[in-house]
Amino acid sequence: MKTEVKEIGLYINGEYVPSSDNETFNVTNPATQELIARVSEATVEDVERACQVAREAFEIGPWRKITVQERSAKLRKMADIILERKEDIARYDAMDVGKPYESTVAHEVARAANNIRFFADFVEEQGGETYPMREAYINFTRYEPVGVAALITPWNVPFMLTTWKLGPCLAAGNTAVIKPAESTPLSVSLLGEIAKEAGIPDGVVNVVQGQGATVGNTLTTHPEVDLISFTGSTTTGKSILKSGADTLKKVSFELGGKAANIIFDDADLEKAVPGSIRAAFMNSGQVCLAGSRILVQRSIFDNFLEKFKKAAMDLKVGDPQEKGIDMGPLVSKVHYNKVTSYLDVAKEEGATLVCGGKRPVLPDHVKNGYYLEPTIYVHNNPKSRICQEEIFGPVVTLIPFDTEEEALQIANDTEYGLNGVVWTENLQRAHRISYNVRAGTIWVNCWFVRDLRAPFGGFKKSGIGREGGQHSMEFFTEVKNICMALN
Ligand code: ADP
Repeated sequence: MKTEVKEIGLYINGEYVPSSDNETFNVTNPATQELIARVSEATVEDVERACQVAREAFEIGPWRKITVQERSAKLRKMADIILERKEDIARYDAMDVGKPYESTVAHEVARAANNIRFFADFVEEQGGETYPMREAYINFTRYEPVGVAALITPWNVPFMLTTWKLGPCLAAGNTAVIKPAESTPLSVSLLGEIAKEAGIPDGVVNVVQGQGATVGNTLTTHPEVDLISFTGSTTTGKSILKSGADTLKKVSFELGGKAANIIFDDADLEKAVPGSIRAAFMNSGQVCLAGSRILVQRSIFDNFLEKFKKAAMDLKVGDPQEKGIDMGPLVSKVHYNKVTSYLDVAKEEGATLVCGGKRPVLPDHVKNGYYLEPTIYVHNNPKSRICQEEIFGPVVTLIPFDTEEEALQIANDTEYGLNGVVWTENLQRAHRISYNVRAGTIWVNCWFVRDLRAPFGGFKKSGIGREGGQHSMEFFTEVKNICMALN
């Protein structure tokens, strides 16, 4: 059956519009290479208009002036609509990202709705501080919205990650210009109509589409943009920090990672093997939290490797639209080429290939997709490129270690610090490792378990700032101190 090619516009001031020069870019399905959408490519003028509209919606519009309860009610409605439309959203993510539809609908879209609902509820509970000053003054604080936020999101988890920023942004009373990644614009484009249906005033949510270097850069240099929340690569983060500097934008960055996943000889392998498989291959390894450096204590190395290899080879790779699929394709040809270039690097570095490293056998209709089998290497050199660089694909390396000190030393020998994972049944060891791995989140005997109140972000080159609960609110608000004389 021929796929219908979607036409996707920009969403500015409450309506979908073509770009001012009518230019579009093509989006293809990475599982088939078929054309699936033509998307309006915003010009500099379009992005400027979106920023201007967001500014007016912030200054003049009702959004920041209505009560917290009114704002939260609209956001809760938005969360309901996301759930009502969960199939459309997950279908879109399956089409342009190549995400397995079944798990996207069950987990990611549910989490997206929860992102919005959580912050709607959270702001209703917020207060401020008071500082009584004898009987002469009352001194107190107010948390106020900052202004116009640029929300720049990556292609690996487009919808869920956008709502993770949009929830606190809107709950605090800001307005937003969203820029999804150019390879995966479909699901995020729906946020316009979802916001409209939820009764969010026009101009509060805008979506501009196009390339990072042009559309993204216009946003990050625009004088009407007050803050940038960005998730993406460390390289792009550095360039956004520079482009936002002239206008002193507030930034929150969640960047790359190369997490150590440490398995001690006292670990429960019934949990550690499936947990490490998820951490390695979920979303085809295109996850900044991926546990891609797997440090295994030497005494259990062979046993772990055998079980891990078997579980990896049992993963069902195929058409992401179908039921029971664990792994879809990589997101694009460019990314496939980048990931597979590491297969040559691994060979040059003398790593031992355990399994994978080639295209899987696939049904005919997806045989042109950008697929790579789950790929496992063993390597003794933690300083090698495959152990240091973020591959962002289904490629992991097992590194043997002898002692706890050695494991810690290897775990921390990285420029990244987003997260770490440890598997052990020894409580004291779990504490020691958690305290000493320099990363923003440590998971002990689990992976990717999130509480939306908890901070999320990276040490070192994995980010600036934290998202989650109060941490998101600090970013999306300005705190004001008011001091009043009482007589
Ligand atoms: P990747 O390298 O994996 O494609 P990026 O970090 O480049 O990831 O992309 C994440 C997001 O940042 C995307 O929406 C992309 O368009 C955007 N982006 C890329 N370059 C820039 C830039 N110079 N300024 C602003 N946004 C950018």
